[in-house]
Amino acid sequence: MGNLRIHPLLREIAHIFTGAGKEVYLVGGAVRDLLLGRNSADWDLATNAKPEEVITLFKRVIPTGIRHGTVTIRHRGVSLEVTTFRTESEYSDGRRPDTIRYAPTIEEDLSRRDFTMNAAAVKLPEGFMVDPFDGRGDIRRRLIRCVGRAEERFAEDGLRPLRAVRFAAQLGFDLERKTLEAIPGALETTARVAPERIREELDKIMASPMPQRGFVAMEETGLLRLLLPELEACRGVEQRGFHRYDVLDHSLLACAYAAKQGFPQEVRMAALFHDLGKPLVRRLDQDRGVWTFYNHEQESARLTGGILRRFRYPNTVQETVLRLIREHMFHYEEAWSDAAVRRFIIRTGEDLIPRLLQLRLADSAGTSGIEPDPAALLPFRRRIEASLTKTGALSLKDLAVNGRDLMGAGVVPGRSLGIILAELLEAVIEDPELNKREKLLEIAQNINKRYQ
Ligand code: ATP
Ligand code: MG
Repeated sequence: MGNLRIHPLLREIAHIFTGAGKEVYLVGGAVRDLLLGRNSADWDLATNAKPEEVITLFKRVIPTGIRHGTVTIRHRGVSLEVTTFRTESEYSDGRRPDTIRYAPTIEEDLSRRDFTMNAAAVKLPEGFMVDPFDGRGDIRRRLIRCVGRAEERFAEDGLRPLRAVRFAAQLGFDLERKTLEAIPGALETTARVAPERIREELDKIMASPMPQRGFVAMEETGLLRLLLPELEACRGVEQRGFHRYDVLDHSLLACAYAAKQGFPQEVRMAALFHDLGKPLVRRLDQDRGVWTFYNHEQESARLTGGILRRFRYPNTVQETVLRLIREHMFHYEEAWSDAAVRRFIIRTGEDLIPRLLQLRLADSAGTSGIEPDPAALLPFRRRIEASLTKTGALSLKDLAVNGRDLMGAGVVPGRSLGIILAELLEAVIEDPELNKREKLLEIAQNINKRYQ
């Protein structure tokens, strides 16, 4: 294999290093992508220059991870992470290495990396490969293989097993046998990894083109039981009826569809977790001979809340995912009155509706195993849009009267004022024609008599 074609910007940066007598290599995901014939979004560099030296070579350098020997350089609007060659030897808590020691050569630096496909480097600016562990061969064979002995590498850092299944989901690769077989023995180390690092990997699995591949690999290796026991409990929970799959496969298919459609993160997460409560509420209806799952959406939301807190998801993500899960059981029919449509909008919240409809598509995909026709939701969408463009009030602030108006009309301030406003809103949801000042005041005075 001849030299690889190197981006002019990378060559320009490389000349700054070589001009100072230093070596620099492209490493990590960018090399993997190059070998896969893909374009890479971000470039990681490795060098024998120390961070203090890198800082002197470039105008704009941010000390992003100086404790790990990493700085970020900004050059012509592009950010690159530059890490000094290092070896990592001591890990005491399954988390980050305790001590950083710099390494003299790129080969030594590559030997501390996790998988062979991540342990190849491209010398810059020339563009020749340094590939001591045959990462190129494993990429050709589509295999994820640890550098060195898998047991040892997983014992050093318990995140690596999860990274392995994450790459399987992202790339559609298989785990090489010894790498796969070493995961169950590493679970105790994985259990001690910081929740934020785990979250990052789970997010990447859910954003990958094949999330089900990642979660099935997690199930096979015990990672699912360790990290998401609530999801593992859905295995073997049969549903029948319209459903072709057990609750776990249903959830994985729903999440896979959401990922494939490019739906937002919250929808993908809700698709994965929306039925977690089913194993807890499943009852056999003796008369009809079917399984029922009453109120599973509440239980699902409760369990999902626990998961999202455990992995320290931001509050905004938690709120949206839980709202989606709680509302996922709506059953629209043409016979719904306009008032019923308005009530649906109010309960759900207008902002959530597009994502809730996406979740419904994912849910259907996971029920039948057949891609749903988005047009099936069109009649409901039209009813919602029509309702939103009409003048009908949807919240107290849209009413043609406010509390002050009511007091002006003789309502005594206090608890009854709030009750009357709520009743007016109910009336307007039922019949938007009533949303006129005079009409509402008249109704309010009638209600008020009940409180005299
Ligand atoms: P992506 O950026 O798509 O997540 P990546 O391979 O670039 O993939 P990073 O987390 O950015 O992954 O890490 C860059 C490189 O650092 C990896 O390719 C790998 O060589 C090394 N690396 C990252 N995390 C670990 C780890 N936990 N153990 C060993 N090496 C690691
Ligand atoms: Mg990267």
